[in-house]
Amino acid sequence: MKKVLILEDEENIRSFVVINLRRAGYEVLEAATGTQALERLQQYPDVGVAILDIMLPDMDGFDVCRRIRANNKQMGIIMLTARTQEMDKVTGLMTGADDYVTKPFSPAELTARIDALFRRLGGDNGVSSELLTQGPFVMNTRNHTLEKDGARIRLTQVEYSIMKVFMQNPGRALSREDILAAVWGRDFEGDLKIVDVNIRRLRIKIEDDTTAPTYITTVWGFGYKWGN
Ligand code: CA
Repeated sequence: MKKVLILEDEENIRSFVVINLRRAGYEVLEAATGTQALERLQQYPDVGVAILDIMLPDMDGFDVCRRIRANNKQMGIIMLTARTQEMDKVTGLMTGADDYVTKPFSPAELTARIDALFRRLGGDNGVSSELLTQGPFVMNTRNHTLEKDGARIRLTQVEYSIMKVFMQNPGRALSREDILAAVWGRDFEGDLKIVDVNIRRLRIKIEDDTTAPTYITTVWGFGYKWGN
């Protein structure tokens, strides 16, 4: 049976999740503190997905996430957040989370996210994957996933499409119009700023230093370029 760990110190939320996930057919392990969660995961290394609350009594959920990722790149990690601030999402991505669920959430929503992660875990073993590899980046165009140094980078569909255009055109300066047409379609009549906004978000996710980007560089007055 597929194993899921739920780390949440509020007992009523935890039992709500446990009941619903068991009903959905998962084997569920519980933890009320970060320490407990890490112990559980050592005991049960076959946990496929961990759901981590952020506000905990002993450490924060990001620390737990970081510690899991230090020796496990495969496990699916969903952060449970009460706050919807963009900062939490960025911090979560930096520490290696795959997804977010904002409280209050419905059991159906949570189950759908967990199912999706399990499907992806299974999909990664596919033999007929199509890979684009450049520097530390590996894009799997079959699963629509991107990894940097072996760690998955969670992208929106639009961010993924932009990355694909870049990785298919290394070293070529692309105008913002080119990118807009390739990603949104020729007939899209949107503002070119949408390209800049998405590039800014992508840089946060993929660059080592956002203030001095080296992968996606700006071609002043024109657009962007992938690589040198
Ligand atoms: Ca909490």
